[in-house]
Order: sequence, then structure tokens, then C-alpha cells
Amino acid sequence: MLTNIGIALIVLAAILFWQSPFLGLSFGILLALIGFALIAAGRGRKMFKALTPSSLKVCPDCKAPIPGDASVCMHCGYRYASV
Ligand SMILES: [Zn+2]
Repeated sequence: MLTNIGIALIVLAAILFWQSPFLGLSFGILLALIGFALIAAGRGRKMFKALTPSSLKVCPDCKAPIPGDASVCMHCGYRYASV
């Protein structure tokens, strides 16, 4: 979603630059920069989500990774009060 807006802004900047080089140089570069920033933000968020899987948590008793929505540890039987 964020990446699509970024690409749209860069395309808009290219069209603006093609229509009038003066406007393209001042306003178009700004649009392109915002576009690239949006694409970077979109990619970064995806990467961050991939690096920190929210579906896993660590059991405080046996330190084993268990599913985030589990209420009982499958390794030691530790019971979670509430998730
Ligand atoms: Zn455990």
C-alpha cells in the first residue's frame, strides 16, 4: 500500500519533469524523494515484521519458543494467566 503510493508519486514526478523541466526540477524532485521514502518505509516495515515474528513468545519457565496464542506451554506445561 505505502509502496504503491511511493511508486505513484515517482511516476507523477517523472510526468511533471517531462511536462516542464523547471517545475519538475523543483517540485518533481521533492515528489520523487517522498515517493522513495514511502517505498523505503513500506519495505522496512515488512522486513521488521519478518524479523520479529509476533506469533512466537518465550516460555518464562523453560525458555522454549511457543506460539503466541498458546495458554499452556507445550514443553513444560507452564500455564499463562492471560494473553
Ligand atoms: Zn515451558
